Amino acid sequence: MRFQFPIIVIDEDFRSENSSGFGIRSLVTAIEAEGMEVLGVTSYGDLTSFVQQQSRASCYILSIDDDEFSEANQEETLTRLRAFVAELRFRNADIPIFLYGETRTSHHLPNDILREMHGFIHMFEDTPEFIARYVVREARAYLDNLAPPFFRALVHYASDGSYSWHCPGHSGGVAFLKSPVGHMFHQFFGENMLRADVCNAVDELGQLLDHTGPIAASERNAARISHADHLFFVTNGTSTSNKIVWNSTVAPGDIVVVDRNCHKSILHSIIMTGAIPIFLMPTRNNFGIIGPIPRSEFDWENIQQKIAQNPFITDKGAKPRVLTITQSTYDGVLYNVEEIKDALDGKIDTLHFDEAWLPHAAFHDFYGDYHAIGEGRVRCKESLVFSTQSTHKLLAGISQASQILVQDSESRQLDKDLFNEAYLMHTSTSPQYAIIASCDVAAAMMEPPGGTALVEESITEAMEFRRAMRKVDEEWGSDWWFKVWGPDHIAEEGMGEREDWMLRAGDNWHGFGDLAEGFNMLDPIKATIVTPGLDLDGNFDDWGIPAAILTKYLSEHGIIVEKCGLYSFFIMFTIGITKGRWNTLVTELQQFKDCYDSNSPLWRCMPEFLAKNKHYEGWGLRDLCNAIHNVYAQHDVARLTTEMYLSTMVPAMRPGEAWAKMAHREVERVDIEELEGRITAMLVTPYPPGIPLLIPGERFNRTIVNYLRFARTFNEQFPGFETDCHGLVKEMKDGKARYCVDCVKD
Ligand SMILES: *Cc1c(COP(=O)(O)O)cnc(C)c1O
Repeated sequence: MRFQFPIIVIDEDFRSENSSGFGIRSLVTAIEAEGMEVLGVTSYGDLTSFVQQQSRASCYILSIDDDEFSEANQEETLTRLRAFVAELRFRNADIPIFLYGETRTSHHLPNDILREMHGFIHMFEDTPEFIARYVVREARAYLDNLAPPFFRALVHYASDGSYSWHCPGHSGGVAFLKSPVGHMFHQFFGENMLRADVCNAVDELGQLLDHTGPIAASERNAARISHADHLFFVTNGTSTSNKIVWNSTVAPGDIVVVDRNCHKSILHSIIMTGAIPIFLMPTRNNFGIIGPIPRSEFDWENIQQKIAQNPFITDKGAKPRVLTITQSTYDGVLYNVEEIKDALDGKIDTLHFDEAWLPHAAFHDFYGDYHAIGEGRVRCKESLVFSTQSTHKLLAGISQASQILVQDSESRQLDKDLFNEAYLMHTSTSPQYAIIASCDVAAAMMEPPGGTALVEESITEAMEFRRAMRKVDEEWGSDWWFKVWGPDHIAEEGMGEREDWMLRAGDNWHGFGDLAEGFNMLDPIKATIVTPGLDLDGNFDDWGIPAAILTKYLSEHGIIVEKCGLYSFFIMFTIGITKGRWNTLVTELQQFKDCYDSNSPLWRCMPEFLAKNKHYEGWGLRDLCNAIHNVYAQHDVARLTTEMYLSTMVPAMRPGEAWAKMAHREVERVDIEELEGRITAMLVTPYPPGIPLLIPGERFNRTIVNYLRFARTFNEQFPGFETDCHGLVKEMKDGKARYCVDCVKD
């Protein structure tokens, strides 16, 4: 496998007909003769738009002749050179940089620049061929060191050309070539993807399930980069990482302490392990944004009180096995991990932070103590700390790439052999090697300084976006414009400071009331965009723009958002963000405003939607917004959903017990109208927001039933905008739709 990484030559005279131009071009010819590609440019250009180009280089040759070091030009030349070298080194500590110039110039170079150079090439002193070999050797050495252990081994294996008799049965892709549609598949994904799709019979690549060979070396490398004591790659998503962590430490009947707004994989873990959950309740504002769990909920007295009140716990003194917190809530709120460790170290066996949305935080000190495991973080005295991270959500991992990080405590180290038993229970015996390679590469990409630069860049872009939205508001939104949820004050340029992003008790932008000082911050790369129509107290305006309509409009114009609420939607600035992407969002929002203000007919602004939903024939965009807004307002939906999520959930049996009822078919389908007081056997999860509302074994209360009734009416009135509710089954009876939930038989 030959990778294409050109040597970049920057020389004003690159195309000139003078001796300097002649000299650099003969060097280029000599380098090309050594088999390396060369890219020649005549100026440093715009440094900021240079990132992609820059990461594809294998070496830089910066040419400077005595002219540029004449009395008149010297200062300017040095300033430009210094800025360019600093920009390169901000992202890349290792790439070779050569200066190429006349002898006299080297005397003028200050040490801070020389220090960053791999050599000073004296023009005309050696032959171009000699210099070329020297440069190419350095460039190749740099490239040879780039690939992290597993990716390196996989590339080697796939290019090796050996015949395989092992699985997968497509044999490096050959099977696909025997069929026309297979050929299409092969052409689409390309040969390398299929050659690299191997099974664990290939010993030279190591074993994921035993953590040996190059795979183990990669996990160690990632652990070093993340400052974790142990790190395990997981190829079935953080859903699986969470189950592994839980199965390694929780057994039937154990007490577990869980964020009520946790991911469903945690609820599955509760069911699967047969644990008895104690829930910590988050705040919520009437935008539907989930706030943090208040600091006081973490007080040991509070947890003990919940244990005392739980009807299923017999041994009230038993130590809870695990605490699981959604670190970065779905709207980007973070907790101060050190405070949680202080409060619960030794009281709970394992502190687990579900950092599916936070794998980037360890690589920039912007995030301080507001993530679980990183450089210089103090150990707990007794409790182990776990973090589970979706590499694929915010770093450069492919789908299902995930990892488990562990920090030992002062008194206890993770027993890796025991832990691996839980790992094996949930890991396929045929892991996808491309996912392992992407875990490996994603970690290597985050190695400082490159990784730090990437995180810094996504924060800066997120800030630019917020500033751009405010600017539109000031210049253009005299009647209305969208708001980005977040603190009133943001830095005027650059990324600002962590302090700007703290959630404070006195602030009224967040709507979460009196929060403890220093306990929470908002991650600036997560942006909730709020549409008009609703205030933080849940009051509806005379008019409004339900976010479901806006996001449908956006998706018809090529913009897919992450998550949609009643009057808000959510986007993220991952390390894959580009200026083009967020600028397009800003302009599409402006287009939407135009369409809304002029009540543009749906056939013009949302033709695809209209084609699928003839019901709205003849409607304008504003008509549609008004209709849905009015129904939301009539039913006071913002307060209804908030109250529903904050209402007291009464557990009638352990989640695992309710599950058993379903497995044994001791359940019945109950109509919405008869649901109140019944015990659900299913997880009930409304979308949006996709957060489980009721857990198997809990009883339906009136607020929830009212919400389900509303959802039913709404769905009948507004085809195309159905609120999906997982757990709710639609049945047709005598030509009429009936909505039911599977409940435990009375
Ligand atoms: C997405 C998510 C998960 C599951 O991660 P996958 O990699 O999709 O399996 C777990 N926890 C939280 C909080 C999530 O948002």
